[in-house]
Amino acid sequence: MRWSEAFISTLKEAPEQAESASHKLMLRSGLIRMLISGVYSYLPLGFKVLRNIENIIRDEMDNSGAQELLLPGLQPVDLWLRSGRDDLMGQTMIRFEDRRGRKICLGPTHEEVITEVVRNQVRSYKQLPFILYQIQTKYRDEIRPRFGVIRSCEFIMKDAYSFDIDKEGLDKNYKKMFEAYKNIFSRCGLSFLTTEADSGVMGGDESNEFMIPAESGEDRVVHCPNCDFTKIKGENLLHCPNCKKKLEEKTVIEVGHIFKLGTKYSESLGASFAAGNGELKPIVMGCYGIGVSRLIAAIIEQNHDQSGIIWPKEVSPYDLLISPLNVSNIEVKEAAEKLYNGLSLKFKVLLDDRDERPGAKLKDADLIGIPLRVIIGEKNLKEKKVELSRRGQDVELIDADKIIEIIKAKA
Ligand code: ATP
Ligand code: MG
Repeated sequence: MRWSEAFISTLKEAPEQAESASHKLMLRSGLIRMLISGVYSYLPLGFKVLRNIENIIRDEMDNSGAQELLLPGLQPVDLWLRSGRDDLMGQTMIRFEDRRGRKICLGPTHEEVITEVVRNQVRSYKQLPFILYQIQTKYRDEIRPRFGVIRSCEFIMKDAYSFDIDKEGLDKNYKKMFEAYKNIFSRCGLSFLTTEADSGVMGGDESNEFMIPAESGEDRVVHCPNCDFTKIKGENLLHCPNCKKKLEEKTVIEVGHIFKLGTKYSESLGASFAAGNGELKPIVMGCYGIGVSRLIAAIIEQNHDQSGIIWPKEVSPYDLLISPLNVSNIEVKEAAEKLYNGLSLKFKVLLDDRDERPGAKLKDADLIGIPLRVIIGEKNLKEKKVELSRRGQDVELIDADKIIEIIKAKA
């Protein structure tokens, strides 16, 4: 892509209402734009990042054996009355009446709908187990939308649901999802903590949250630097129960939540199967959520500096930025074009062919954070050299003739 033709609009200053580092950088680098409070458009650069994250998630979910489907965003309120969660969701759930007088809501999550779908398909234990997932827009009328896409009213979630004949099956699928989540967050370039299962309070159901330590986090955990014990900060826990070390307090962003549901939804909504002996039993379920759009912000919280974003390789909107500093110099321009043509087939390349001051181009390059870049300047080119650097790291001078090979080895 040529920058001169790309729909990229960067800002020198972040709008005043932006509080967190990620929100500021997402606005400044033109990844998103606010429509109304809590509702955002993804511009092409932001959408590329979103797609990259979705693809990492798809890859790891498919590898785990889960199958992708797509459930509707419009849901009958009646389903929520049957599951007993209508009151609980209250005003967070966006509701309206359609022209037929049906009470409809915009799905804030999909346990009810998936249970209804599965209820109508599964008869026998022979059809179990399986895991289904989707990547889809959710709607929640949050009391306080904050930090851009971290807490918004319309956001993209990956939600998965497992269906088993018994508790042992659920345990196995839960472990599978736990592993898949670890792979997903690592590939997103994140260092993360997983909270200890909170047993007892919720009737013995097990759950784990995946937390990203970040300044703008809305949750607090205590964490043991020695054994990684992590727990949502509640009671005054000072020392780690495993190794007696002093616990550290951290603010974190919740990016994922996995939960052993058991038979809560299958019982209330009547999703059962015939066991081997013919006995009718409720399906044993688990649910597994990732905040896909929130992840973009979490990645930026952990991967930026004073000047801008530093994208981890797999989520970056482009693999490589080629920046000819002075496009009115014909040699510089030609060298950049040659490199662009030589690499575009194999890599996602952004060519900054704008006729702008070098300072402005370099500032924009820092801001949008493409990890690998080649800078072509008049002086260096006379010596048959170009600059190669990783975003945020030292610059190397490379022979202009060798640059294509070197990048093929690095990118
Ligand atoms: P929170 O406690 O942050 O409100 P939650 O526990 O209600 O989140 P879940 O129902 O567990 O959220 O949803 C799964 C994932 O979806 C969360 O782990 C989070 O990453 C993401 N998520 C939830 N609410 C929002 C929101 N308003 N905006 C963006 N992402 C969200
Ligand atoms: Mg949660």
